[in-house]
Amino acid sequence: MQGFDVCVIGGGPSGCITALSLAIRGVHVCVIEKYVPSDARSFESLTDGIWPVLDAIGIRESFLKAALLNFSPKIVLWENAAEPDVNFFNNDVSMIVDRSRFNEFFLKSLQDFGVAVFRPAIVTRTKYSTLGWEVDLSVYGKSSRISSRFVVDACGKSGFLPQKKTRNSPRTIALCGTLQNSDSSPMTYVEAFPQAWCWGSSLPNKGLTVMMFSDSDTFNLSSKREIEEKWRSALSQSKFFSKFSSCPLSQNLILRNATAYCVADPLQDSYIKVGDASFSLDPLSSSGVEKAMHTGLTASAVIRTILNKPARLDLCKKFYCDYQSETIAMHIFWATSSYAKVKRFDESPFWKSRSVSHIRAIAPRQNDIEFGKVCDIKNDTFFQFSKNTKFEKRPCIIDSMVCENTVLVHPNLARPIAFVSGVDVDRLFPRFTDRINAIGLLRYWAENFPSVNGVRTAAWLLTNQVMEVS
Ligand SMILES: Cc1cc2nc3c(=O)[nH]c(=O)nc-3n(C[C@H](O)[C@H](O)[C@H](O)COP(=O)(O)OP(=O)(O)OC[C@H]3O[C@@H](n4cnc5c(N)ncnc54)[C@H](O)[C@@H]3O)c2cc1C
Repeated sequence: MQGFDVCVIGGGPSGCITALSLAIRGVHVCVIEKYVPSDARSFESLTDGIWPVLDAIGIRESFLKAALLNFSPKIVLWENAAEPDVNFFNNDVSMIVDRSRFNEFFLKSLQDFGVAVFRPAIVTRTKYSTLGWEVDLSVYGKSSRISSRFVVDACGKSGFLPQKKTRNSPRTIALCGTLQNSDSSPMTYVEAFPQAWCWGSSLPNKGLTVMMFSDSDTFNLSSKREIEEKWRSALSQSKFFSKFSSCPLSQNLILRNATAYCVADPLQDSYIKVGDASFSLDPLSSSGVEKAMHTGLTASAVIRTILNKPARLDLCKKFYCDYQSETIAMHIFWATSSYAKVKRFDESPFWKSRSVSHIRAIAPRQNDIEFGKVCDIKNDTFFQFSKNTKFEKRPCIIDSMVCENTVLVHPNLARPIAFVSGVDVDRLFPRFTDRINAIGLLRYWAENFPSVNGVRTAAWLLTNQVMEVS
């Protein structure tokens, strides 16, 4: 029986990043993936947040060499019915990827990094005892058994190990299809419809891939023909998609569940859930893949900590749960405010129900830094921490392990801060409770921490009211 430190079930972006991040740190890991490579094509759009994850693994260059991305200009009809929104989704270029080729890239990278890949393999039984996990597989119809100390559930929405899901958005479905048209000029469209929103992107080999997101019951019709007719009718009444609405489909429409949810307690003593097996987000931001990859990186630090420092299990549980709920809360804030911008449909149940959330939402803070406040500093200027500023011990990732560290907490900061330009806040702020000479503080930083831009840091602290001039 082959033995591994970690067995990852599911070879999508979250499972592969978890495995790669563990493998580069010497953990003996395997991945089990049920699908064989296929010609099936489904296209999704990626966000810039994938780059830091690829950098963390060291595979940005090979990713670029694989030439998986297609770039297209993006045009968005959202807040206003007549005028396209400029930069509404932060940039006006879309990165489109064929998900099958994308997944193949990661599965191949696993082999390059010495990860054992079982594929196509179906897990038929798992059993956990004090000795660890036994995982029974059927590989090409042949049974085998592996053992591992820890298991990662990276099986996407279906999940593999027990889970209790909570819905985080109205029930949403996506009707996905590829319309054949002869226009091959690259373009991505996003448009608000009265009862839905729609994303479409032209494909490199001609054709337009279209996903329409709406309430689940909107397309609760008896036949496939009726569903397709309703889908085409909605497209025909739109500004961007009407010219494509009668093009033939290259295959039947596919219905996908796009409801956002999260599972309770994604980290247990001997297993962790990553990517969509842990939570999924409203697809409006097109950041599901990025977040799935990011959970993989985070989970790998958690797993290494549990394997090497089992006494930190509770710390890891707190850290991973907080990470999950904070990521969701920030995304909910972004998604509800984006839906609320479509005022012309604010009486429509689809838009009304998505413009508010009863779940915790956190607004990201993006204050412009006011350098002026620091430039005014004179010899007799003093700083002090505001009364809302606190230093607390919280779990953080340091050197790819979870540990407890001092963090700076303030209501104006989106998240607790453990490091500023690579320096931990414990060392950055001399322990004082009273006011401090501002020039002295800037000099102390300049002499001891050359990586810290003192003026910028002071301006950021003052702008966010973490510190005040006294
Ligand atoms: C309609 C729709 C549109 C979307 N559009 C976008 C978009 O444009 N951009 C974006 O970033 N995100 C998008 N997303 C979200 C994105 O697809 C997911 O967030 C992302 O794929 C999650 O990655 P994952 O690795 O967690 O799961 P998955 O990608 O689902 O991978 C799970 C893997 O596990 C394997 N598996 C499952 N069960 C087993 C088993 N029992 N044994 C072995 N293997 C198993 C599967 O074969 C699969 O390879 C969209 C989602 C939906 C529903």
